[in-house]
Parts: sequence; structure tokens; C-alpha cells
Amino acid sequence: MGAQQTMTLIPGSHPAQELKKRVLESSCYGFRTMHLTPSQRHARNQFIRAYDILNSGCELYSAHDIMTWLMGLLDQFFFFGAMTPLWKKNPGNEMDWLHLRLSEESEIESVGILGYYDNVNLRITLLTRVWGTNVPSTLDMLLGTLCHEMTHAFLGIFHDPNQSLYEEVEADELHGTVFLELCSAIQDTVRGWSPNLMSLYYDGEATWMPRDDAPFIIDNTFIPLSSIEGWDPDYAGWKDPKAGRCRKGGPRKAAKKVEFYQPSLLD
Ligand SMILES: [Zn+2]
Repeated sequence: MGAQQTMTLIPGSHPAQELKKRVLESSCYGFRTMHLTPSQRHARNQFIRAYDILNSGCELYSAHDIMTWLMGLLDQFFFFGAMTPLWKKNPGNEMDWLHLRLSEESEIESVGILGYYDNVNLRITLLTRVWGTNVPSTLDMLLGTLCHEMTHAFLGIFHDPNQSLYEEVEADELHGTVFLELCSAIQDTVRGWSPNLMSLYYDGEATWMPRDDAPFIIDNTFIPLSSIEGWDPDYAGWKDPKAGRCRKGGPRKAAKKVEFYQPSLLD
């Protein structure tokens, strides 16, 4: 294993362009796949395995616990493990870190949304029903949305508005140019991890269509969609490609310094 350079991420201190560059160079560019850190490889392998298990409908585990764990794996792979306590020796109070809740209800009234990020409480909410409908959110929608909200969280925590252009992060309800480029690259990278993951929700593709047989969550449990008697995906409106947008979170919160390892080309 090659030497790793210790770097520091400081909340509210980085130009958005620098954050984007670091994530892309350490995790998203295909030609660097050989240079992933051991923890990145581990996180990727665990994620692929978990997705395949969940695809068969997993009634053994809490959907919240599994999604929280997957969030930690995505953090480890894309965001230097800077946002979640997974694998930290002394994680402290979990509320000090990015955390997740699953909810049928939204605190935000915005038709069609699947999730949102709260920058005050460092919390991502994923909706198990598309807001304003009875349409269940499937695993593919939830994981694609999780990538989207984690991108909000990463930029929200670490970018410095004074060193970033308004159009890069803040514009269009926090869906600025840097956000969209980073979010699409992350979702696209996850989609490339296995043929099965190609059905993950993707912000960068207007023609994205959900598959009809993806599992969804009911009573904190993943269930195969096909197990619902009389389920008709066309009737339920799943074909609407506009579903899945999110809304911006609240004002920024002063968080702590985070040490992380910059993956080395020699690794
Ligand atoms: Zn968003």
C-alpha cells in the first residue's frame, strides 16, 4: 500500500469547485479505479452485495438500519468518510454526524419529492411515499435520492459561499452547476458498479425510467413490489420521469473539523 497524504476538510471553508474536484478525482473517474483506497474498495463491494440482497426483498432487517449503513458506505467511498461515524473509533453522539430518517410524511409541501436534506440538524429524510401520492418509493429511487441528498449535505457542510459562485451551489434551490455535475457523477459511478445498479435513479438523465419490479419499503421492511396484489405500475404513475426532485434544506450549521485521507495514486 502506498503512502497516504493526510488532508483536512473544514466545514464552510472550501470552494465548491475544489470539493467537486476532490470527489471526482478520488472516486468517480473510471481510470482511477485501480487507485481506490482499501476502504473504498470495501465500501463498494459491501454496497453491491447489499443491493443484490435487497433486490430479492429483505424482510430480515430494519430498512432504516440498512439505509443508514448504505449511507455510511457511500460516505466512505465518495466523501472520505467525512460525514458519518461508520468505522470511526470514537464516533461520539450520533446526532453530531449526518443521519437519516425514513418517513411517509414530509415536513415540506412539494409535490413529487422523494427526500430532502436539513442542514441545521444534519439530517437526510427519505420519503417512503412520493409526496402527495400513494406511490411507494422503490429501492432504486431511494438510493438515487440518497446520493442526491448526500451531495447536498457534503456541499452544504463544507463549501464556503464566499469562495463559490452563486450559480455553482445556491442557485435553483441549491441545484447549482457544481451540485448537478457532482451529483450526476456520483449516481453514474454507482450505476456502473454492477449491471443491476443501472436502474438506480439518475438526475443526469431526463429519460430515466423506473423498473417495475424494484422492492419498496413498508413497515420499515423492504418488500418486492410484485408481492402487492393488483399492483399496476402504469396506473400508479411510476412512469413519470419528473418524480424525485427534492427541496433545499435550512441554513448552515457550524460543524467540526474532519480529518480524512486523500487517496494516493500509489495506493
Ligand atoms: Zn436536491
